[in-house]
Amino acid sequence: MTRESLLCEPRVLSTLNANGSRRWLHPRPSRGRLYRARRILAYGLIAVFTLVPYLSIGSKPAVLLDISRREFTLLGFTFLPTDTVLLALLLVTLILGICLATAILGRVWCGWMCPQTVYMEFVYRPLERLFDGPPGPRQAPGKRSTPGRILLKYAIYVAVSAYLAHTFLAYFVGVETLAQWVERSPLEHPISFLVMAGVTGLMMFDFSYFREQTCIVACPYGRFQSVMLDRDSLIVSYDPKRGEPRGRAGRGSPDPALRGHCIDCGQCTDTCPTGIDIRDGLQLECIACAQCIDACDAVMDRRGKPRGLIRMSSQSRIEDAGGRWLRPRLVLYAAVMLALLTVLGTALVRKQSADVTLLRGRGAPFHELAPGEITNQIGVKITNRSGADAAYRIEAAAPASVRVVAEENPVLLKAGQSRSVAAMITIGRGEFQGGRCDVTLRISDGDTFSQELDYRLLGPQNALAPAASDGREEPDRG
Ligand code: SF4
Ligand code: SF4
Repeated sequence: MTRESLLCEPRVLSTLNANGSRRWLHPRPSRGRLYRARRILAYGLIAVFTLVPYLSIGSKPAVLLDISRREFTLLGFTFLPTDTVLLALLLVTLILGICLATAILGRVWCGWMCPQTVYMEFVYRPLERLFDGPPGPRQAPGKRSTPGRILLKYAIYVAVSAYLAHTFLAYFVGVETLAQWVERSPLEHPISFLVMAGVTGLMMFDFSYFREQTCIVACPYGRFQSVMLDRDSLIVSYDPKRGEPRGRAGRGSPDPALRGHCIDCGQCTDTCPTGIDIRDGLQLECIACAQCIDACDAVMDRRGKPRGLIRMSSQSRIEDAGGRWLRPRLVLYAAVMLALLTVLGTALVRKQSADVTLLRGRGAPFHELAPGEITNQIGVKITNRSGADAAYRIEAAAPASVRVVAEENPVLLKAGQSRSVAAMITIGRGEFQGGRCDVTLRISDGDTFSQELDYRLLGPQNALAPAASDGREEPDRG
């Protein structure tokens, strides 16, 4: 299909022909200065994506998203299931950060740093060009391909996809588990093997078949970008004042005196990995990869015209309507982010190596198990966040007469484990005033962790009258 016929067809989606069939894109890379910068960044990011699961901070992995245990370790801090609020804060901060970055720099993450683009444009497409020959609508893809070359290409795709699947799963299971999966026979761990095979299949599907459609129709960030951008956001823009009326010298072309700098050569559309024409204005499909900038700059260089007919700019600047860097939405995003980061940072710094919560027991609020002695049943919930197994002792701290008997003491917890044990707190009846008595319990691991918690015991309103054994008060006969 020629470029001219494609341009004549009514636009459905850049990856669809008007009849609904797939429009396969084989963009021709434009190896300008921005492409070279992206390539350096991409190879650096591939190294980072691969190495991060192997990095540790302290005794913990730098990043481990352990979904089965509902534990997420980021930069050495582990979010446990009890840290839902902290995780929610982190998530909101991240979303605000994305909104802020997009409002300033547009969709630069997509074109420059997203793993989808990095692997697609700098691993799979180069492999495709290696085996299928130079791309571009003017040369049918696969022209130089033979069955042997196609087979070899897909064999390499499978190998690269398997490597990506291992890298991806390392973030979720950790490198030690991954090493076991690799070393052991699939018969010994069929489920893990199937998971790995499934993820490899998904990678193959994504990078060899679905491709740029992930950015165009599947990625929620791409769908939301229109509400994150404003007229002052940095986007890849075509300058119609300079470029129009477009056309080449020849019959039917605009008057040379009036003709703009765009010669309608199609280089910018041929190089676009999402198959759009940036001269139509800002579009949902544009991932800000800047390939069209490099392509057009090369054309302008050859024609002796200034670069920048397509450039990074904003809608306001392109329309000569001025441009503002500082906008209310940026200030708002930054202020809320700063506030959230402060709260999150403070909470993380104050986190100890264990979480302890005292829970009121069920049933009667108190019992008089021995004459003159009131007992409350409580639950002591301890979460070990120290990263190592630990034993936590539950003790009475104040007043001196209070006693604690726990069903298990010390409480042995594995790293990351959380458990609740029942405990009985007993104190003399005379310590109660107005039915209440405040006590302090101490929970410690005998090493780095020790925490004292206040607890209000419930008891008889009248400290002198005997209470029923089930916690109901006897009538005051005095
Ligand atoms: S590459 Fe530049 S000159 Fe060529 S069609 Fe695109 S905008 Fe016009
Ligand atoms: S229009 Fe330009 S910047 Fe946008 S995706 Fe296409 S080539 Fe990349």
